[in-house]
Amino acid sequence: MNFIILGPQGSGKGTQAILLAEKYNLEHVDVGSALREISENDTLLGKRLNEIINVKKELVSNEIIGEVLEHKLADIPENKGIIIDGAPRRFEQIKIVEDALLKFGRKIDKVISINISPEESIKRISKRFDCSECGARLIMGEDIETAKDPCPKCKGKIEQRKDDTPEGVRKRLSIFQEETVPVIEEYRRNGILLEVEGEGEEREIFNKIVKNL
Ligand code: AMP
Repeated sequence: MNFIILGPQGSGKGTQAILLAEKYNLEHVDVGSALREISENDTLLGKRLNEIINVKKELVSNEIIGEVLEHKLADIPENKGIIIDGAPRRFEQIKIVEDALLKFGRKIDKVISINISPEESIKRISKRFDCSECGARLIMGEDIETAKDPCPKCKGKIEQRKDDTPEGVRKRLSIFQEETVPVIEEYRRNGILLEVEGEGEEREIFNKIVKNL
C-alpha cells in the first residue's frame, strides 16, 4: 500500500505517519525532515535549503522535491509499502510525486488529510520541542516544564525547530492554505482522500484513520 499524509503544521501528521508505518510495516518517507537534514550540510545545496526553510520559511523548489523523493524511493524494497509525509504541497507537485512513484512501479492508494484550526496549530507548535540527542518529541507542560529543561528520556539538550517561531508558523500556515489546500481538493475530486479531524487524542485519531482506510 502507498499512502500520502498531509496536514497543516502541528496537525500531528508526523506522529500518525509513524504509527501507521508501524502498524502496516510501511517505510516512512518524511520529506520535510529529509530536507531539514540536507539544510544542515555545509554545501551549496545545504546553504540554499537553509535559507529557504529556516530564514524565508518558504517552500523549496518542485525539482528538489522530485529529486529527494526519487532518492528516498530508490532505497526502499519494492514489496514494502510507503507513507509519504509532506508531499505534494503544491499543485504542480502532484504530477512530480505521481511520476516518481511510477518509476518504482507504485501508485497512490489513499491520501490522508488531517485537519486542525490555525489557532490550534499555533498553540501546539509553540509547545513543541525536540531532543537534539535522542530526537524525542517533547511537549511543554506535559514532558518538560521550561525550554531549559534537559530531555527527560536521555538528559540531552532540548531545542525548538528553527522554523517554529510564531512568525514562521503563521507564514507556513498561509502557504498551506494557498498552496496545499488545492492539492487536497484535487485528491478529494479523485475520490482517494480520507479526511480526519485532528483535534483530540493521538490514539483516537489513529483508530479513526485505521477504521476508514
Ligand atoms: P516539515 O518538516 O514538513 O514542516 O517541512 C519543513 C520545511 O521543508 C517546510 O517548511 C518547507 O520549507 C520544506 N518542505 C517540506 N516538504 C515540502 C514540499 N513538499 N514542497 C516544498 N517544500 C517542502
